[in-house]
Amino acid sequence: MFMPVNETGYEIRFRIFGVPVMVHPFFWLMALILFGNGVVSFQDGHPVLNLVGMMAIVFASILVHELGHSAMMARYRIRSEIVLYGMGGYARSTGGRGLSRGLWDQVLIAFAGPLAQFILYGLVWSLDRFAPPLPPNSFLSYGVLVDVALYCNLVWPLLNLLPILPLDGGQICQGFARMFQGHYQGDVTALWISIITGGVLAVLAFQYGIFFGGVFLIYITIQNFQSLQQHSSRW
Ligand SMILES: [Zn+2]
Repeated sequence: MFMPVNETGYEIRFRIFGVPVMVHPFFWLMALILFGNGVVSFQDGHPVLNLVGMMAIVFASILVHELGHSAMMARYRIRSEIVLYGMGGYARSTGGRGLSRGLWDQVLIAFAGPLAQFILYGLVWSLDRFAPPLPPNSFLSYGVLVDVALYCNLVWPLLNLLPILPLDGGQICQGFARMFQGHYQGDVTALWISIITGGVLAVLAFQYGIFFGGVFLIYITIQNFQSLQQHSSRW
């Protein structure tokens, strides 16, 4: 979890496959900031309907990702809940058996989220290739829907697999490090890998003008550095 989620009273709540889901209003704002400009510049379709279609696709993509985590947690008899918010989403455990220390469950639970999106990517890619596209119309742009879906379900899970805590790739790295080095030393290793990877990528992000990406990486790198310091002071 990156940031505390302050409830506003405008959350949407529902259950899917028995898993409680909460959607914070900033989730929709995040989708608008990321894709709004690109979407309204499409030639066909109505701009407002294209925006709604885009948000539905971002919503489905992240929900499928978190459901991947939840399904794998359920396999290990861990109950979970899903929160979609301004930084994306997370599935967190709410009880049940709990994680074992440094075995395959942590790695598989973390990988299940990106995997679910890769499967969705394959479905959208096949549909795009084999189904006839919508003709240009004044309602919805086929191009918007496919572009956003392909981007969300390929680029996001790939970025998520970077070995930086608390991203899924960082969790996978931590799971492996715990397997080889035990819980304490494994966490130190995973934090160092996160800090070095995050720091290098932050510099690259700024060099290539990816400002938000750079700020985001610096933010989680500082958090990881603080975790490392707290970690060391406990012993
Ligand atoms: Zn994830």
